[in-house]
Amino acid sequence: MRFLLPLFTLVATLSAYDFALKPKRITPEVTCFFGEPEVMNTTNNGNMVNTCYIDTKKSYVVIDSGSSYAYAASAYNAMQKIKPWPVELVINTHVHDDHWLGNGFFAQKGVKVLGSDDFIHNASIDSPSRIQTHISPQAYALTVPTLPSEMIASDKTLKIGNKTLELHIMKQQAHSEKDMVVYVPQAKVLFAGDLVFNDRVPSLAGGNINGWISALELLKTYGATTIIGGHGYRTDKEAMIMTREYLIQMRSEVRSAIDEGLSIDETINKVTMPSFKSLRMMKSLHRANVETAYRTLEWEEK
Ligand SMILES: [Zn+2]
Repeated sequence: MRFLLPLFTLVATLSAYDFALKPKRITPEVTCFFGEPEVMNTTNNGNMVNTCYIDTKKSYVVIDSGSSYAYAASAYNAMQKIKPWPVELVINTHVHDDHWLGNGFFAQKGVKVLGSDDFIHNASIDSPSRIQTHISPQAYALTVPTLPSEMIASDKTLKIGNKTLELHIMKQQAHSEKDMVVYVPQAKVLFAGDLVFNDRVPSLAGGNINGWISALELLKTYGATTIIGGHGYRTDKEAMIMTREYLIQMRSEVRSAIDEGLSIDETINKVTMPSFKSLRMMKSLHRANVETAYRTLEWEEK
């Protein structure tokens, strides 16, 4: 019997859906996988999120494990072809499931997974998961929603190999209830999670527009020269501009609408922000974002 389990694991691993993910080297120490700037569907099968590997000269640290077991396996296998080093730690930036449903792949290897304590309150391990209902069963196969093995409530600095990693937890609800970013000061690289979107409309669902804008102001002070968001391809020092301009314009227009006494429906119809019209996912997300912003801003003291 003893040989059957490894054999089963091997067969199961080999039969998992292959995303054939393509690694992209961003800096000498950072390699990432960039997902499509679109909603999860049966074409991208959850490859619509960004995940990264940090080279510590003896191991890898993974930023977000991706949307499924098979996704995590595909990224891992691609990295093993570059340097066959072990993964020492996985960090989950926030509770949205496209960023951490790959945890089970790493947990099976005994890798520690670290996230904020928001996972205790706001991560859903219910079945079916959001991702599961949107991607193909083959792509989701072997995925077991697995929470971080360590959940932290406050900032933490780690030294792993030749790298120092600063883990910063935002003090207020921003994109999610508790967003964590990872900063590597030696390389001036910031992993901003979903506080930074590019090439598509950000999602404000479950977020707070004021907290998000404040969080971006804070991130600006880090002096990062490379900024990698949770979605989208841009990674230079200005990579947070699009998200910031979108949120600032929305806040200004929604505040004006509230001051004019417009209802939520009137505001949604008015705040169309045509200068962002060509941005992907504008049709599917923008109206919901305006509604979320309105529900936050209508309570502001005048
Ligand atoms: Zn998110």
